[in-house]
Amino acid sequence: MIANLKAELEQRAADGLIRHQRLLQSAQSAHVLVDNHRVLSFCSNDYLGLANHPLLKLAMHQGIDDSGVGSGASHMVTGHHQFHDTLERELAEFVGLDDAILFSTGYMANIGVVTSFVGRSDVIFSDKLNHASLNDAGVLSRANLQRYAHNDMEALESLLKNVNFSNPNARKLMVTDAVFSMDGDIAPLDKILGLCEQYDAYCLVDDAHGFGMLGENGCGALNHFKLSSPRIIYMATLGKAAGVSGAFVAGDQVIIDYLKQKARTHIYTTASPPALAHTLSKSLAIIKNGDALRAHLNNLIAALKQSLTLKNWQLLPSNSAIQPLLIGGNNAAIQLSEYLLKLGILVPAIRPPTVPTGTARLRISLTAAHSLQDIEKLALALHQAERDLLEVTV
Ligand SMILES: *Cc1c(COP(=O)(O)O)cnc(C)c1O
Repeated sequence: MIANLKAELEQRAADGLIRHQRLLQSAQSAHVLVDNHRVLSFCSNDYLGLANHPLLKLAMHQGIDDSGVGSGASHMVTGHHQFHDTLERELAEFVGLDDAILFSTGYMANIGVVTSFVGRSDVIFSDKLNHASLNDAGVLSRANLQRYAHNDMEALESLLKNVNFSNPNARKLMVTDAVFSMDGDIAPLDKILGLCEQYDAYCLVDDAHGFGMLGENGCGALNHFKLSSPRIIYMATLGKAAGVSGAFVAGDQVIIDYLKQKARTHIYTTASPPALAHTLSKSLAIIKNGDALRAHLNNLIAALKQSLTLKNWQLLPSNSAIQPLLIGGNNAAIQLSEYLLKLGILVPAIRPPTVPTGTARLRISLTAAHSLQDIEKLALALHQAERDLLEVTV
């Protein structure tokens, strides 16, 4: 039995698919200590640089003084602290929806929502590049999971149409990332919602990478597209731009009432520490007043695009903080990532199954904690890498 596991691991290594866990020995930031080396890092989702923000650290200390370190119970028993309740109301108001429900992680939120809304006789329509948690949620729900080509509205419409025809009573749930986590591009949510209206489907938007970044005051993808509809189920995570941990789902009052009764990953688990919720209330205030942080980040994004004039590697079209540099082969992506690391720059190589085969890439993610000099350093290193690595392969 064990030999069988070993063989599978060895095959993975041969395919360039082994994942290595790095050891972070400092707080998350643009400059970090990793595996005993100081590096310039382009691999966090801490887009606004809040994970080590002094005001949030203070809020966490205060939250612990007031509420202790653990919630002690699930939300339905006695774990639902005033800090959770306040945060849920603040989040709902911020994203312009009736109410919100907290989850301990985004992964759990997606599992909870999808399995609450659809079951065996229902259908899910899912973008092929959606986050793994949405795919897993679809499988767990036992619904008929139909995946459409990335952002392809004709494909989505033809799936919706056919289901209407074959089983008019099926509950329909469309699910999409708002900003795609490995590509950085944005889903055409206006068109998607239009199709959901037309074919009577629920519209689940995973805004893990848009919350705090898109829309007025960073309130997210719905505001970016000026969308509102009772069929929208809005999910966002609180460990990326918000800098802490957790997730929430917001929507029409009925949707949230329904989830409070049905979402098993909310009901059957210990509520997250109330101090986190307290810290997140403060984080929300910083996000609301964070136009300067977002403007700085947008400058960095523009600077990176302008300074990269590589012949062999292209940035994928993205205006978000996620700027993937397409390499292709797994080992080529790893080789480039290792080359950069020798220069003190950490950019992760992303390989299948996280991305489709043949599209291994460096996922460059920028944050407001970076400076223009950091971007210049990365651009110089990539140009140098292209010269050096090509000499080797030619
Ligand atoms: C990160 C992410 C999640 C999972 O959120 P966690 O809080 O990290 O569990 C879900 N969806 C998308 C699109 C993500 O990028």
